[in-house]
Amino acid sequence: MVNYRYLGNSGLKISEITYGNWLTHGSQVENDVATQCVRAALDAGISTFDTADVYANTKAEQVLGDALAGERRESLEIFTKVYWPTGPGGPNDTGLSRKHVMESIDGSLRRLGTDYVDLYQAHRYDTETPLTETMQAFADIVRQGKALYIGVSEWTADQIRAGAALAKDLGFQLISSQPQYSMLWRVIEDEVVPASKEAGLSQIVWSPMAQGVLSGKYLPGEAPPAGSRATDTKGGAESIGRFMDDDVLTRVQGLRPVADELGLSMAQLAVAWVLQNDNVAAALVGASRPEQVAENVKASGVTIPEELMARIDDVLGDVVERDPAMTARNAPSTRVA
Ligand code: NDP
Repeated sequence: MVNYRYLGNSGLKISEITYGNWLTHGSQVENDVATQCVRAALDAGISTFDTADVYANTKAEQVLGDALAGERRESLEIFTKVYWPTGPGGPNDTGLSRKHVMESIDGSLRRLGTDYVDLYQAHRYDTETPLTETMQAFADIVRQGKALYIGVSEWTADQIRAGAALAKDLGFQLISSQPQYSMLWRVIEDEVVPASKEAGLSQIVWSPMAQGVLSGKYLPGEAPPAGSRATDTKGGAESIGRFMDDDVLTRVQGLRPVADELGLSMAQLAVAWVLQNDNVAAALVGASRPEQVAENVKASGVTIPEELMARIDDVLGDVVERDPAMTARNAPSTRVA
């Protein structure tokens, strides 16, 4: 079964393997397969589920809500997010203004079929709304009981520090940061992680398997396997594109002996690797099939010895991205319309 970790400096425990439904529910996979994946997650002891209003333009929340209907609410931690535009694209259908935040939470709760989410996350930083306005809206949502805790996603260290300080003044706290993090993408290590530790946030990290690349199933010079994300024309192929490089894929194949030595699959090694970081509360893992969920949860509780952690670094060499400036560089510099 899956181990639990505290989320930030809070009393909330979450399953260290968390199931996320970006690109899959309401898009790449049919609803019955989505339900089977959620079932497999619950059966394996995963209690924490992550989605966003923008995934499949609100359909992912609906599919997840339907799949979790009938489960004991107190036994689940349900996370969603606000920022990216949904709806008809009006000037206020985006960002972190009070108007968009207060309206979006109601839509998310309706689709998820719940009275509250456990964690409501700012999906990106809104450069056009005063941070005080956003934080005041979050404070009100917490007081209304519509969200129990607040987090952020892909915020820089400075943004995290400023948000955490304001939240404290308003009588609540930011408890989580949701950045991309994997053996191949380590840009949070130098700035976001130290700032988060200081401010009492932990990381729930997305694409720990680099969207499937670290499972080793994509071979250099060969066509991607049928049905994989790299063949998904509804957005998957584009998203995974940055890792579909022969140099990266060749280096990744070099990790196979390390996984073998630990008796793990490469997918399990990738998930276990992010969990070695003590500021990581959970690996947010996706799946297009229930068997993947069953395989990936076995990464919980694995310790990778120092010597093998060093070997992983040697094998991957310079294909690892470490530049902390990538957090800001990949975030929208103006509010996305
Ligand atoms: P992963 O790196 O875990 O990739 C998951 C994908 O890899 C699966 O959908 C599947 O794709 C493939 N896969 C999973 N397990 C295996 C396995 N055992 N063997 C082979 N292939 C496997 O994470 P995601 O990129 O899916 O992201 C996870 C979650 O993170 C999202 O659902 C979302 O909740 C969150 N997220 C947050 C973002 C943010 O901005 N805050 C951005 C992106 C994600 P397939 O079978 O189709 O190849």
